Amino acid sequence: MSVDRRGLLIILSSPSGAGKSTLARGMMEWDPSLSFSVSATTRKPRKGEEHGREYYFHNHDEFRKIVDDDGMLEHAEVFDNFYGSPRAPVETAIKAGRDVLFDIDWQGGQQVRNSVLGKHTLSIFILPPSITELERRLRSRGQDTDEVISNRMQKSRDEISHWPEYDYVLVNDNLDVTAEKLKTIISAERLRISQQPNLVETVRVLNSEFEDRK
Ligand code: ADP
Ligand code: 5GP
Repeated sequence: MSVDRRGLLIILSSPSGAGKSTLARGMMEWDPSLSFSVSATTRKPRKGEEHGREYYFHNHDEFRKIVDDDGMLEHAEVFDNFYGSPRAPVETAIKAGRDVLFDIDWQGGQQVRNSVLGKHTLSIFILPPSITELERRLRSRGQDTDEVISNRMQKSRDEISHWPEYDYVLVNDNLDVTAEKLKTIISAERLRISQQPNLVETVRVLNSEFEDRK
């Protein structure tokens, strides 16, 4: 199958609560052709989360079996649970020229960048405007216990330390402004030479037109 452009693997990472899931949802509304990589996890579902929509919820044995069968593009232990990106849907989308959006931590980001698809990754790190605001957002989500929130706050410094590994860093102060910046980045990165497999053919046709004019 010939496609007009190659799919990008778009990685969003941030400390928990900085807003990457909210931004990811916004990007899916902006461009429904984006494919969201639904991760697998051993964490328990939060209220309102559905198997197959936010995550595929598995127990440890099920998760381990998928990893052993090479079914994960990447996986990592985050906040005492396992998380991973199932490989097959990503490969299908990329082959069809569709971009895939990942909401994963820095460990997953490193693994995807180092994978065979690494050349086609675009990685964006989201920072909170302040640590006080990060904690406020985690609490305002109203989904996690005090213990979970304090565990996540403790690990946020470590997550933030990985910002230089990313292609872009955005401070998510005003949500609409950040979403607009994200759209700009994605739109521009889609035009990179490495994402346009048909350029060789386009230029070949232009050159043959030159020849015809001789
Ligand atoms: P993450 O996926 O990074 O853990 P979420 O997207 O779940 O974070 O956001 C955490 C909370 O902060 C949510 O309640 C969300 O609505 C809110 N939020 C996200 N971005 C902003 C922003 N720019 N300003 C204020 N609140 C925000
Ligand atoms: P949450 O439990 O709040 O949904 O996610 C916790 C953390 O796990 C977030 O930093 C999120 O980005 C990360 N995460 C979610 N899915 C994956 C995944 O498939 N792989 C990796 N490496 N991290 C993930």
